[in-house]
Amino acid sequence: MEYQNENKTCQNCKNDFLIEANDFSFYEKIKVPAPTWCPPCRMIRRLSFGNAWGVHFRNCEKCGVKTLTMYRPENSIKVYCDPCWWADNWDGTEYGIDYDNTRPFLEQWLELRNKTPHFAKDALYLTLKNCDYTNAIAFSKNCYMSFWADYCENVYYSSLLNEAKDSIDLFRIYKTELSYDSVGLGMSSKVFYSLECDSCVDVWFSRNCYGCINCIGCVNQRGKSYMIFNEQYSREEYFEKLKEFKLNTRSGIKALLEKSESFWKSLPYREYQGNPKNLNVKGDYIFESKNAKDCYMCIGVEDSKYTQFVSVPKATNCMDYYGWGNGVDLIYECTTSGEGLQNMKFSFGCFANGLDSEYCGFVIGSNHNFGCVNLKRKKYCILNKEYSKEEYEKLRLEIIEDMNKNPYIDSKGRVFKYGEFFPSEFSMFPYVDSNANKFFPKTKEEALKEGYNWQDKIINNYTKTIDGFDLPDSSEEFNDEILKEIVSCVGCENCFRFTKGELDLYRKLNLPLPDNCPKCRESRRLSLVNMPISFESQCDNCKKDLTTMHNPKDQKNIYCEKCYQQEVY
Ligand SMILES: [Zn+2]
Ligand SMILES: [Zn+2]
Ligand SMILES: [Zn+2]
Ligand SMILES: [Zn+2]
Repeated sequence: MEYQNENKTCQNCKNDFLIEANDFSFYEKIKVPAPTWCPPCRMIRRLSFGNAWGVHFRNCEKCGVKTLTMYRPENSIKVYCDPCWWADNWDGTEYGIDYDNTRPFLEQWLELRNKTPHFAKDALYLTLKNCDYTNAIAFSKNCYMSFWADYCENVYYSSLLNEAKDSIDLFRIYKTELSYDSVGLGMSSKVFYSLECDSCVDVWFSRNCYGCINCIGCVNQRGKSYMIFNEQYSREEYFEKLKEFKLNTRSGIKALLEKSESFWKSLPYREYQGNPKNLNVKGDYIFESKNAKDCYMCIGVEDSKYTQFVSVPKATNCMDYYGWGNGVDLIYECTTSGEGLQNMKFSFGCFANGLDSEYCGFVIGSNHNFGCVNLKRKKYCILNKEYSKEEYEKLRLEIIEDMNKNPYIDSKGRVFKYGEFFPSEFSMFPYVDSNANKFFPKTKEEALKEGYNWQDKIINNYTKTIDGFDLPDSSEEFNDEILKEIVSCVGCENCFRFTKGELDLYRKLNLPLPDNCPKCRESRRLSLVNMPISFESQCDNCKKDLTTMHNPKDQKNIYCEKCYQQEVY
């Protein structure tokens, strides 16, 4: 059938949005109606159902042990520690309920959700070793306060990671080791205080460099060595300068951070961040992808649209999907799901293979399920109750029909027929803890007005034993005694402590101790990242129109792809 572009009004924000002809073919292929929310509203709704970063302590409802978890202690959701949740003595069908065709289906789904035990952390627990203080993580060992990570080892205070090793304070990292306080590194080693660098070694305070070794403060360089602020030095001069900079002291680092920040801004930025292995992509932070439209922070994405945070390749034929990938195909309106899923719709927290399921949450290694939650290795279940294949198929169609006749209507009057992701008021997390707040921060008033859950941010109440301003300046001046101290952050009212492994890494990398708490350090890194919002703009060189995620407020020089390639050195 021939489709045409169609304009619609978003049920949520009331703005007009476009559904392209191709989108309709996708909807037809997976047999869903066209969306009623615009793409940004759909993205924020999905993001509000994930919580990688906002962790708390509470006790396991089964064994009583204190555990780190993504749920606040006052949240009425039932939470099990990881060993209890992953134990083989239950599979979720114990909580199964009969479908009642006189009431909206999603209302019954919520009742089931509230009865079932949730895992403390959204993690592949059985693939982890010594990662108790992490979340959204798999196949890793010896990591601490790191979130959204796969295949990592000895990593601290970092997130959105794939194969990171022996590093602290990183964001969006692929195959990188021995690095510190950087954003967007790939295939690199010993990169510090840098942004968007690929295949670099011993690089400091640099952005958008590729294949550089021994450089400081460089921008848009390719395959260079012994360069400082884009000026070429001899090897001897370079190492002389390096000593003068005193990079093992906090004062030395702060001086260069300030200098590099203004130098970075004085030079052109590419219209979007990606690598030459992309083919026909649109969005930002896209790598090794093809036919990826309006995507954000993705690696190895193909034939997909409105897809975000694919940190492990691949993801194919996805629409309205966010992370983390690792071999998923045909996914629509799913969040924090990955690991070999196929043909999944309207679901969150599903992984470890899974086929043909809809309206599922935290369903692991299961196929052909509808409206299930906290279920393990089961098939043909509806609301966690098992049926024969024939019964399942018949009841599924009945429910879809009922969802359209008698839809769930949320507290803001928004209608949730079949084809809609879960209502935001069903999220297990207050908006401030959710992944949505990282990229679309909202005030209490805004969040409540838009129907998101709210609880205030938590400020920790430790009493400091040392002021951040009094921490030793150089890497030579501290020893393990500092592990006993509670340090007050120089940037906010929080206090923080150092851990042994982290301290060992500062020593190994010859770096000074940070005087900001991990949260302030992360906020600084995030301030260097473009948010997933597109702006209509112009190339600052050739004046060609372009769509970019660089915010015009930042007043950067944005170059189109062609002009940028002519400009890089
Ligand atoms: Zn909207
Ligand atoms: Zn337990
Ligand atoms: Zn702080
Ligand atoms: Zn241009």
